[in-house]
Amino acid sequence: MNKPKMALEKGVPSSSRVLMLLGQLERMNGEAMLSDAEVSRQITSKILHLIQTQEKTRKELTTKGSGGMEVILASLENTRDLQTILNILCILNELLSVGGGRRIGVCVSKGGTGVLLQLLISSSKETPPSEELMMHVHTLLAKIGPKDRKFGVKARLTGALNVTVNLLKQNVNNNKLLLPCLQVLRVYSANSVNAVSLGKSGVVELMFKVIGPYSKKNTSVMKVALDTLGALLKSKMNARRAVERAQVSALLAIYQDWHRNDTRHRHTLIRKSILGCLKNVTNSKLGRKAFTDADGMRILYHTSTECLPVRTLDSLVNTSSLIMRKCFPKNRLPLPTIKSSYQYALPHVPAGGPVAQLYNQPPGVDDVVDESDDNEDMELDTENDTENEEDDKDKAENDDIETDIAKLRPRLTQTRPLDELRVYERFFLELSEDFQGFDLTDSRAGIGVTPAPPLPKPPKPITVPAGGQAPPKGHLEAGLAASRLEKGEPHPLGPLELESIGLSRAPEKLLMGDSLSPAAQDHTPQGEAGATPRGLEPSDLSGSLSRLALEGGGGGALSGSGGGSEDGGAEQGVLEVPDTAAMLPLHDPELYIQMAKGTRSVPSYAEVAYPDYCGHLAPSTPEPILERAYGVQRAKIFQDIERLIHPNDILDKVVYDLDLQSCPVIDDGESLKFNSQFESGNLRKAVQVRKFEYDLILNSDINSNHYHQWFYFEVSSMQVGTTYRFNIINCEKANSQFNYGMQVLMYSVQEAIGGRPQWGRTGQDICYYKNHFSRSSIAAGGQKGKSYYTMTFTVTFQHKDDVCYFAYHYPYTYSTLKMHLQKLQEKCGDGVYLREDVLCETLGGNPCPMLTITAMPDSTSPTHLNQLRGRPVVFLTARVHPGETNASWVMKGTLEFLTGSSPLAQSLRACYLFKIIPMLNPDGVINGSHRCSLSGEDLNRQWQSPNLELHPTIYHAKGLLQYLNAIQRAPLVFCDYHGHSRKKNVFMYGCSIKETVWQTNINAPSCELHEDLGYRTLPKLLSQLAPAFSMSSCSFVVERSKEATARVVVWRELGVQRSYTMESTLCGCDQGKYKGMQIGTRELEEMGAQLCVALLRLHRLTSPLELHTHMHTHTHTHLLEVENELIETQRCSVTTSPTTYVLAEDEPVLEEVDYSADSDTDQDLQDPTEPLSDSELNDKDPLS
Ligand SMILES: [Zn+2]
Repeated sequence: MNKPKMALEKGVPSSSRVLMLLGQLERMNGEAMLSDAEVSRQITSKILHLIQTQEKTRKELTTKGSGGMEVILASLENTRDLQTILNILCILNELLSVGGGRRIGVCVSKGGTGVLLQLLISSSKETPPSEELMMHVHTLLAKIGPKDRKFGVKARLTGALNVTVNLLKQNVNNNKLLLPCLQVLRVYSANSVNAVSLGKSGVVELMFKVIGPYSKKNTSVMKVALDTLGALLKSKMNARRAVERAQVSALLAIYQDWHRNDTRHRHTLIRKSILGCLKNVTNSKLGRKAFTDADGMRILYHTSTECLPVRTLDSLVNTSSLIMRKCFPKNRLPLPTIKSSYQYALPHVPAGGPVAQLYNQPPGVDDVVDESDDNEDMELDTENDTENEEDDKDKAENDDIETDIAKLRPRLTQTRPLDELRVYERFFLELSEDFQGFDLTDSRAGIGVTPAPPLPKPPKPITVPAGGQAPPKGHLEAGLAASRLEKGEPHPLGPLELESIGLSRAPEKLLMGDSLSPAAQDHTPQGEAGATPRGLEPSDLSGSLSRLALEGGGGGALSGSGGGSEDGGAEQGVLEVPDTAAMLPLHDPELYIQMAKGTRSVPSYAEVAYPDYCGHLAPSTPEPILERAYGVQRAKIFQDIERLIHPNDILDKVVYDLDLQSCPVIDDGESLKFNSQFESGNLRKAVQVRKFEYDLILNSDINSNHYHQWFYFEVSSMQVGTTYRFNIINCEKANSQFNYGMQVLMYSVQEAIGGRPQWGRTGQDICYYKNHFSRSSIAAGGQKGKSYYTMTFTVTFQHKDDVCYFAYHYPYTYSTLKMHLQKLQEKCGDGVYLREDVLCETLGGNPCPMLTITAMPDSTSPTHLNQLRGRPVVFLTARVHPGETNASWVMKGTLEFLTGSSPLAQSLRACYLFKIIPMLNPDGVINGSHRCSLSGEDLNRQWQSPNLELHPTIYHAKGLLQYLNAIQRAPLVFCDYHGHSRKKNVFMYGCSIKETVWQTNINAPSCELHEDLGYRTLPKLLSQLAPAFSMSSCSFVVERSKEATARVVVWRELGVQRSYTMESTLCGCDQGKYKGMQIGTRELEEMGAQLCVALLRLHRLTSPLELHTHMHTHTHTHLLEVENELIETQRCSVTTSPTTYVLAEDEPVLEEVDYSADSDTDQDLQDPTEPLSDSELNDKDPLS
């Protein structure tokens, strides 16, 4: 070390004695230090005395610029005199004991670590080394070590590691040296390379000697030794050593010892440290086995149960629970295969990808479960273990941003020639129609009024677009037939006839009294059975469901039901009470049954679920987000662990199983009855675990072995007032809004009969956590050692003989869509041009409806016809992902608004030509899939090159857009409605080159990129209009993983600048008017309507002149007033940030985008994690 410069001359008060001494010391550095030991001894002793007696002298020595630390360290380096060294070590000790980390930091930055380690090495060569010196050096190293990031490496390279270890070995009983040495060792062992090296030197065994049995003597030594041991056991090699020496059971014994003796909980930190050792040693398979063999599960279970009542012991319980979860023997799901229990043979198997993989697997290898360690997320804390995984995921998403500028630039390539695209002309009749056959006589509002045009019979679906690639129909039928045969049904598939569909037991009962069946007059059970041609035995009707109808009628709960014979009365009552026609204008039970009969499902469903039959009436106010109770997850995990501790309590009784030829219907009064064999249902298996607890397994998407999230099933035979626990045990996502206040949905048939046909949020003690069921690496993208997740909730049923339905989100079936579309056409008001076409037939043989909505022309004059034909196109799609039912409810809101009679709707229709495909994936919806179509693929990843046979709806939807593009009529707006399972609020994803480039910091001069910022206008308008919409959740970045989605393809290939995905939360809102509320169908429908209002405003902004020329002036002013009023009342408090300012009335479309670091999009990308709720924060272990 060079001679440090003293700052003494520079105006420091010369009166300071300590600085004078320091000056003397500095002058001595070098030769004098060695030759004149006596003087250096005296000076250092005086300094020591001064700082021990006068607080201010410490400050003087360590103030910035005093150079004190340098001088002291230099002297330490230069002297050989033991007493001087000891004095200096004491001085340092005094200086570093106070003043917090700052002084230690200074010492480290001035090279203190190196000086002390060198001193340690050189002194160790003396025989014997000075005990006093060793003690002081270690005490100091223990202080500065944690502040020096390189400490571990420095210690290893200088050889200090071994010095400390040897010293310890010789002084295990020397209390004076033991503690400081252990403290340094603890710092050394935090470095993983050191940990291995220390293990080899026998430090693991050494620590076991130190920690010994329970003793209140020297608890600080104990604690440090345990922490060191814990750090060492993180190394797999050390863990193996510990296992080989039976030290896992030793640790358990020590833990029990402390648990028994520390009755007043004075030493929880020691107990926690012992658990820390167990936690680390069980990261390895060997460790887990040793733990189980040593009866660790039982020991930790019992100790934890005794700790549970004492809140201050929570950290012990949480760590114990973490260890037990890790060591819980992994099980396979009790399934014959993880592939869907429904088979659907594809016309051809795609060349590559997951479906090809699935088809190429040899039989029996689909469920490959290995014992690999799944450590990385095992380290996380119990109650919060899902948080960090989300972080990682979001990091990965950031890596996903497209960086290839060439790919970002829109590529307007016409992939299909116009000649071929002409086949789509028929979907644009309004562009060539002369409206001669329509009665356009003027009427009421001044807008052309006429009955809606007679809907062309659904044109024959496009099955043979030009090019002659006819889908192999025969093959398809064969496939279907095969799937039916596998389900044990001999009939080849024909058109579904009235007779071929029976009805669900509940609606069955209801329908018998309905006008649908001639058997309505005949109320005997035989008559009913006779009315149901096949599939339903009379005994089916004698179950609780028929009791339901009977008692519902006889109990007098049904007003107005005839008081005649029980049966007749009941049916009359059932018929009358859920009369929702007035409340639910688009719902009609009879029509629903008709529609359901035309729906083709792979399992050939013969039943209809009651909620779909009876309809759903949204509550008038949204329901609050559930507060999570303290320690819920822990309590659930303990119940799971009890399965192992008290195996005799476990029933393991299968009460529902789709994989059995005849799904068992157990009716012994001891178990709940389950059913989900109806449209969109997807429960695969139910196992009664305990008297009131059921494990439920969801079916995978057809032609897939995963995607379990959506659920919809029926429960009956419940006991009133008893709390049931339900566990869906094969969830896959790493986290869920069920951890953040989202509840499941329940529909009670008794409530419906009582006049409240309603899905409602329900369930208590809801949480979502990783469980002990192994996931096959084949179903986990090749990752080994993964587990499934459990979503658990409890329900207490309120009504006797009820039939209840549970769902992930508000169900919306394909048959419901067909019913709604038909009712919309019936209700459709004057002046509305509404046409329904069949875009194509799906793989499963269901027509995919497509709507055209606009205003009728004012007259057949060329001017008016040209106005109609010149309207910009708005293209809307929804429900490509079947599990995202919220998208359908938003779409329902849009459709109702668009076909409605409000002045806003009238002017909106006059502005645009709407092309709407409300359900892009009918087959997925019908068959209860979560994500895929029958081809086992995510249709929203097929837009780049959709396959005509496998992805017909996408192929033709893209065809329509390509056609529009070819005739220079590319849409002004394209929007695909989705649901989002991880975020709150409603928001949009759009596409912007600039914002993508800016996010990735690609080396492209972004100033050279010219981009119209109009893509921001619509989301901005929505953030002003729609209470659930949040601008700050929107993103306009183009991700690589999304390059085959509708949004990106429509933007890039078709040049639609305003191309969006609109995501609606499945949970609720954390901003705006609905803050703290769960989302309901009313709010979702409102969102769909508000999108329409925003489109109207967008029109005014994009073409202000057109408005004046093409609107009747006398209604114009009125409309503006109405609209402004609506906007004013709907406007929620929009936070003023640079990018969400409110657009003034006639502001131009182009607005500035703030590209600075604190723009809201930036924040969204950098901090996308969910904030923890208060209760979750409270659940956090303060000690870990
Ligand atoms: Zn989606």
